[in-house]
Amino acid sequence: MKIFNRPASVLALSMVLAALLFLARSRADAGALPSAPTIAPITTAPQGSAVPPVTANPAASPSVAATAAARPAVAQKSAPVATSAEGLDWLQLDSEALGYFRTYLRFDTSNPPGKTAAAIDYLRHILQREGIPSEVFSSDPAKPNLVARLPGSSNLKPLLLMSHVDVVPAVASDWSHPPFRADVAHGYVWGRGALDDKSDGIMALMTLIALHRRHVPLVRGVEMMVNSDEESGGDMGAQWMVSTHWEALDPAFAFNEGGTGTPNWMGASGTIFRIAVAEKRVMWLKLIAHGRAGHGSEPTDQNPNLILIRALYRVLAEQPPMRLTRIFRETAQAMAPRMSDPMSFEFSHLDYPLMLELAGHGPLSDEAVQAVLRDTIVPTMLDAGIKVNVIPSIAEATLDCRLLPGTDPSKFLDHINTLIDDPRVVVEFLQMPDRSRYLSPRRGPAWEAIKQVVHQDFPDAVAVPALQASATDSRFLRDRRVPAYGLIPVVLEGPEESRIHGVDERISLQNFFRGLRVTYDLTTRLCARKP
Ligand SMILES: [Zn+2]
Repeated sequence: MKIFNRPASVLALSMVLAALLFLARSRADAGALPSAPTIAPITTAPQGSAVPPVTANPAASPSVAATAAARPAVAQKSAPVATSAEGLDWLQLDSEALGYFRTYLRFDTSNPPGKTAAAIDYLRHILQREGIPSEVFSSDPAKPNLVARLPGSSNLKPLLLMSHVDVVPAVASDWSHPPFRADVAHGYVWGRGALDDKSDGIMALMTLIALHRRHVPLVRGVEMMVNSDEESGGDMGAQWMVSTHWEALDPAFAFNEGGTGTPNWMGASGTIFRIAVAEKRVMWLKLIAHGRAGHGSEPTDQNPNLILIRALYRVLAEQPPMRLTRIFRETAQAMAPRMSDPMSFEFSHLDYPLMLELAGHGPLSDEAVQAVLRDTIVPTMLDAGIKVNVIPSIAEATLDCRLLPGTDPSKFLDHINTLIDDPRVVVEFLQMPDRSRYLSPRRGPAWEAIKQVVHQDFPDAVAVPALQASATDSRFLRDRRVPAYGLIPVVLEGPEESRIHGVDERISLQNFFRGLRVTYDLTTRLCARKP
């Protein structure tokens, strides 16, 4: 994808166009142009060992002092709806949570191979000790899924807090702290899964424990699911649970991993929480170039490597064009009031002719933003040949394509075949995109709760709806038309986010402790009986 810096001429053109549009707008019916909505006022278990002890011993933790230092001010600021968060012994809960979290991180649940039984057993043991009912469901005993629940007093469907136990692999030699040791250093807990997604699991666990210990009266039930196999597509995890054990879940809403808070995202004031309400759809393709095997000393146009390289060049010379989706329009309009002109004007008028193109060279040129404005095609694996002096008979490449809502997969494939324009190249599906068109609603109790809690628990923050470029287990819930929202309740400065699936993944103690409160606040707001 070619990303340009914003040239001065484009900026000037943008400002002129903005001024012209402003004049036109003041003359025309104001309703003819989209207007920006108002926003809320800114007011230790070594690998392979038996199940580790459940009891966290804060005194044994090197981080008790850090715990106190990292304690967020949010606990004093929060104004809980149904129950008194101040009444909770957060110091005790934080210490317990940190102990559980570090032990949970020490289970190497790398996927592949994705063996998660010991880690699930550990969580289940904690729940059992607390007297919270739970069940384990397995299509493969090495990859179980855990569901725990606290019932509500009414027939309202429950809230589901989702997380996954498996993690992507880590190359230990690249890390500053071993990826499965859960060190606490410099105000962070270090480890694979610290953000994706074991912290979410502990935040849900501690919410259930706090509600249960305090006998908080629940109108709506609360359930948590910790599933395996997320990093391999969910065949034995969330997808399997949804298709074969729906009766064990059947929630009204689900909160899952997804967007985080970013300070001054795209130049907006305050912290922007992108709440995932939809995801791009995964379409994986394999290109197979067929040629003629021969001696490496004799060049030939029938070399499958050449055929493949030419095909890839034609497909990848340009990424598909930008297209404004309904969700991105909503994202931009929610952010516009927090931006200064001309960006604010651009963001609130993206569907005006040329405006998307202009903004695409400016504030929307960031790679992560471009990824949610286009169908994307990324070459990920190349495979050909057995020896340096042998021309092989076939060469293969895989393409990771991600489709925007509304893109027709068969037309997209036709377009790729047209670009390749070579009968010697066969394109196969490795994974078909799902056909779901469901977007989690941007109104109703769950959305309102997210907006209010983000506003309440993070200074100067706003929640905006967002399209997520990557896929999560939320898609299986949305297939069932269950509003699923992607939210990791942490604030990450730019480079921190790249540690997810990268090197030196970590979560700050402040983010971890605040996330515990946010999850508790969200849950009580939706489920606890109003006083
Ligand atoms: Zn994840």
